[in-house]
Parts: sequence; structure tokens; C-alpha cells
Amino acid sequence: MNGKGLATAWTTVGTLDEGGGTSPGILSKLTLQYCGGVNEVIDLVNSGPRVFGANLLLTEREGKAVVVEYTHSHFNVREPIDSCLAVPSHFVSNEMNRYGPSMPRYPSSCYRYIRLEQLLYQNKGKIDMKIMEEIDRGHFDLSIGKTKPSPNTICRHNSPDTVSSFLRNITRGLARIVKGHPCEGNYSEYELKEK
Ligand SMILES: [Zn+2]
Repeated sequence: MNGKGLATAWTTVGTLDEGGGTSPGILSKLTLQYCGGVNEVIDLVNSGPRVFGANLLLTEREGKAVVVEYTHSHFNVREPIDSCLAVPSHFVSNEMNRYGPSMPRYPSSCYRYIRLEQLLYQNKGKIDMKIMEEIDRGHFDLSIGKTKPSPNTICRHNSPDTVSSFLRNITRGLARIVKGHPCEGNYSEYELKEK
């Protein structure tokens, strides 16, 4: 998050459309250093080729949020539906889903994405840090319809496990972080201040 209230996060997405270009880490650093709004970042991401696939989440303090889904040579901007926007490790839009992994290839990302969307809609309008913590500790496995920690639960268990959870309230400039499984640790809160 930068001093103008613009925040970023990203997930990498497996794709065959790879090549020379900019990595999501570099794009994220350029975004925070030089950009003040979502539209500026969209222009930046679209200004040249990217090295591989990613979902780049962009949010403004005033509430605007988008996901830029991209590969080396393809690109799409996904907007919230009914004020909710979840970001998995695959592409969701019709424009991009052919370039990323499908449900049979990466069921974990699909089940966890659907579950996250359910919880976002269920809690719409009342989401705070406490509710976000509970969401990230979620152990409901949609593939079997039961509460049981697995690779298909938001708090992911079995290789690769969830290694940390990083929650942000960009309106108030707060972050909560826990290392390891969110279900096993206590979050520490940090205030993000401008220098
Ligand atoms: Zn867990």
C-alpha cells in the first residue's frame, strides 16, 4: 500500500502463454512507487509484455477495486460483481479462463475461490478484521460438503499448506498478519503510517 491509498496483491497463475517481460513483483513495486489510482496501473500493466500469468489485485482507499488478469500477451480487467471480488490462482473471466488452469487441473483454487465468494456475499456490508480472520481460518471443504481441513479449504492443509495470512483494512491503514495456518496462530495488528 502506498501513501495515496493504492494497494496491491497478486497470485501467480499457471499458463502456457509465457515469455520475456515484467514479473508481478516488479509490476507491484512500480505500481506503489509511481501510481496513484487503478487506471494508471492498468495502463502500466498493458504497456508491455509480462513474463507469466498472474492476477493483480488493485484497490483504492475510496473503494474502487479490480483484478487485472494477465499472461505474457493477454490481458483483461475483472470488476467486482455486487461489490464482491475474490482472487484465486486461476483466471475467472471468459476472456482469460482459456489461458489458465481449469477445474480438473487445479481443483483447490476453484473450490477455495467459490467458498471465498460465498463467505464474502454472506458477510457483505459487515466485513471487519475479525470476520476476515474467521474467513481465512475456514475449513469447509466444498468438494465433500463437510468441515474438514484439506487442500480445498481456504485455510489450506496438506502440501502446499497455507504459510501465512495477511489482512488489510486500507481505509483505516491497518494490517493483521499471522505466520503459518491462520487456524493455529494469533494475528498481530500493525498500523500503516505515511513517513
Ligand atoms: Zn487451518
